[in-house]
Amino acid sequence: MNWKNEVDKRKGTIVKDTQSFLQIESVLDEKTVSKQAPFGEKIREAYDWLLHKAKQEGFKVKDHDGYAAHIEWGTGEEIVGILCHIDVVPGGDDWTSPAFNAEIRDEKIYARGALDDKGPTMACYYALKILKDAGIETGKRVRLIIGTDEESQWRCVDHYFKHEEMPSLGFAPDADFPIIYAEKGICDFIYETKLTSNTGLVRSFHSGHRLNMVPDRAVAKLDIKQVENTSKLRNLFHQYLVHNDCKGSLNIRDSNVELTLNGFSAHGMEPEDGVNAGLLLAGFLIKLPLNIEEKNFITPLVAMFLKDSRGENIDIAYSDEQLGDLTINIGQMMYEQGSESKIGINLRYPEGASFDVIKRSLDDHFQAYGYVGDTRVHETPHAMDKDHELVKILSKVYEEETGEQAELLAIGGGTYARALNAGVAFGPLFPGQKDVIHQADEYISIKHLLAMTVIYTRAVYELAKR
Ligand SMILES: [Zn+2]
Repeated sequence: MNWKNEVDKRKGTIVKDTQSFLQIESVLDEKTVSKQAPFGEKIREAYDWLLHKAKQEGFKVKDHDGYAAHIEWGTGEEIVGILCHIDVVPGGDDWTSPAFNAEIRDEKIYARGALDDKGPTMACYYALKILKDAGIETGKRVRLIIGTDEESQWRCVDHYFKHEEMPSLGFAPDADFPIIYAEKGICDFIYETKLTSNTGLVRSFHSGHRLNMVPDRAVAKLDIKQVENTSKLRNLFHQYLVHNDCKGSLNIRDSNVELTLNGFSAHGMEPEDGVNAGLLLAGFLIKLPLNIEEKNFITPLVAMFLKDSRGENIDIAYSDEQLGDLTINIGQMMYEQGSESKIGINLRYPEGASFDVIKRSLDDHFQAYGYVGDTRVHETPHAMDKDHELVKILSKVYEEETGEQAELLAIGGGTYARALNAGVAFGPLFPGQKDVIHQADEYISIKHLLAMTVIYTRAVYELAKR
């Protein structure tokens, strides 16, 4: 079969369906949650739109309470799973055309979800349809598994796999081509303590909003009555900023001396790509006269993490050849005099590192400062054998369809593929392509949409064939 011809013949309907699908604002909406719509009406609308289409086409469809569904094609004992999601992050501002208009300009469809993940979901749906239309006989069943909560808490796949068989292998079209075969373990920890003193130098300290981002700004409010000499402090701060090659300011507001330090944001999976404003400001504050509660907040930041994103200071540094270094991002630092303080950590570790050892070391070190920890997220590393048939088949398909080498990627990030026992991330972003995911003017070019449809059709064919 010439899959490219089959895809090209359907160009008009693929584009039109993708547009219609993208025009539904399928964003998590707690206000319209109901029993039928666990993530809100609009996600349910997009879900119904797709499931209705699949039923009309004659596919077997199974809906698990609005959490997740599958569209099934083919026969056989084993299952090939394709894990997609139809929920999207909010549109946000600064779009050239509204985020849910799915306007076509310059042979590109502009819409939230165009690449992440509704465009690729349509491509995979058409892969199934083309194979079905061609009357191909399979040796395995193929399930397009439709998730609805990927952008938030993955409650969709958690629910789905409580009721359904795990596919024997599969892929998620929700990251990068060629193939992501290994991902680090990911954990979020929060260490916190109550504060009782209502006096002291530091009234508040705030830096960072999300654990998986390097904070680009930190603000400390100091009690002006506790600052001996403001101009001396200004000089010291200025020297510190120059010495660390960063920007900041000292302002007097109300009864506070407000220190602001600007760093540089980056994804938490590689803290060295950014400059952590919070840690750097802590590095300045430690030189000032602090009370015990203030010391207990500032000292661990400086002693454990400033200029060490690899865990060397607390003896948990670890590296392996595939996935590289264990990394630590201090994504959130918060101190409110007389109330509480919190330190939020996003830590990623390669296979071979022990979660228990990591957790124990953090707990022990923080305990010395009176902080207690809680693990908010823990996902173990996910890695496929490079010689697994899944990797081999997808590599071959990718190489033959693109003429490029199918380099196998190991990353620090987490993709939807880890919801599968034997799964990889496979597309949709091609190497060197501009990554517009979660940004204004997210788009998918029609050429690219068709190209990925060809690759997915061929991939499903090769994985499921007799
Ligand atoms: Zn996604």
